[in-house]
Amino acid sequence: MVESFRMNLKGKVAVVTGSTSGIGLGVARALAREGADIVLNGFGDAAEIESARKSFGGRTLYDPADMSKPGEISAMIARAEKELGSVDILVNNAGIQHVAAVEDFPAEKWDQVLSINLSSSFHTIRAALPGMKKRGWGRIVNIASAHGLVASVGKAAYVAAKHGLIGLTKVVALETAATGVTCNAICPGWVLTPLVQKQIDALAAREKISEEEAKKRLLAEKQPSLEFATPEQIGGIAVFLCSEAAAQVRGSSISVDGGWTAQ
Ligand code: NAD
Repeated sequence: MVESFRMNLKGKVAVVTGSTSGIGLGVARALAREGADIVLNGFGDAAEIESARKSFGGRTLYDPADMSKPGEISAMIARAEKELGSVDILVNNAGIQHVAAVEDFPAEKWDQVLSINLSSSFHTIRAALPGMKKRGWGRIVNIASAHGLVASVGKAAYVAAKHGLIGLTKVVALETAATGVTCNAICPGWVLTPLVQKQIDALAAREKISEEEAKKRLLAEKQPSLEFATPEQIGGIAVFLCSEAAAQVRGSSISVDGGWTAQ
């Protein structure tokens, strides 16, 4: 019989990349609430990071690894295994955005978006998978996007990276299909985080409209529910993917996008 999807994650160690803000912080909080030990990662104010770390309860680590640096990524996974004993749950969430038409897209921005939003997941998975396989249990959750399934103008690097991340998710799911390790993607639509706030501010400035009006337009253009999804909701889906109910969910992309990609 399938256990309740509110699985007790006590004793499991979860690495959540980019968890100092937004969706990553929401996912880390949700996993911590289920009892997981958390490895927090990302940039930001040292005092705020420390207070987030303390709020989780359980055993926690903060590792400042830069997701554009493969050496720092493998060192973070090795440190988590050494200091907390294992990496059982890996949430690849760190990401950045840059908006420009493809012919104006700075080459160094392309490289930066691809390395943080796509290649970092290859490096974390490569480092964490052997331990998961050895222990016979693991959960890999890749935070992709509606932009992993459909495109928007001005987002060449982001859309390419997120489509790539869904491809990587499927390959890892197939390569682990006969093991206790699963790999899936979550595809959020608009979630009100600092990453999206920047796009709201840019729209408000460009169109000379209020912030509230800019939020409404952003939603109306793409998200039929006309409501933002929340980091807590994404956290809930991540917890579900870590449960036994989700043991045969493999290589899936779960949309949490208010109907964006149903159109
Ligand atoms: P955010 O800007 O609030 O958080 C991004 C996190 O990544 C921060 O913790 C930041 O410090 C970290 N980060 C950035 N560069 C890093 C690097 N080089 N190394 C380590 N950490 C780094 O953004 P968010 O909206 O919470 O986005 C999180 C993920 O969700 C991203 O992958 C994003 O593409 C995806 N996403 C967001 C939305 C949305 O509407 N907000 C929608 C779909 C997908």
